[in-house]
Amino acid sequence: MSLVKGKGTKPELAVRRVTYALGYRYRLHKRELPGRPDLVFARLKKVIFVHGCFWHRHSGCPRCRLPKTRKHFWGMKLEGNRLRDLKNQRLLREQGWSFLLIWECQTEDATVLEGIIRSFLEDGT
Ligand SMILES: [Zn+2]
Repeated sequence: MSLVKGKGTKPELAVRRVTYALGYRYRLHKRELPGRPDLVFARLKKVIFVHGCFWHRHSGCPRCRLPKTRKHFWGMKLEGNRLRDLKNQRLLREQGWSFLLIWECQTEDATVLEGIIRSFLEDGT
């Protein structure tokens, strides 16, 4: 588990690679959208977030276990992240966007990842 924020670009790159291979083109990190989604498909009005299991509290995932020290501090901090995520998701929905959350632990198997991305992007188009 890495505690360094922003270091986890590997899952993001895996998502971009698979998406690109499926033939979809996207923009990255559009600032004007709530939460700065990692991949933006403007024409489809869809966005993808790639979430680190620890930082974004992937519930039930072994990677989201809190460090043994300063448990209270981490609990508060990460709960703040989680609430901010929920708020951004609500704002996106209100603006007519649909979103997909891809967890870091889902990016390791390219076949699984491709299935997730494909069903999201093909849905309702
Ligand atoms: Zn996870």
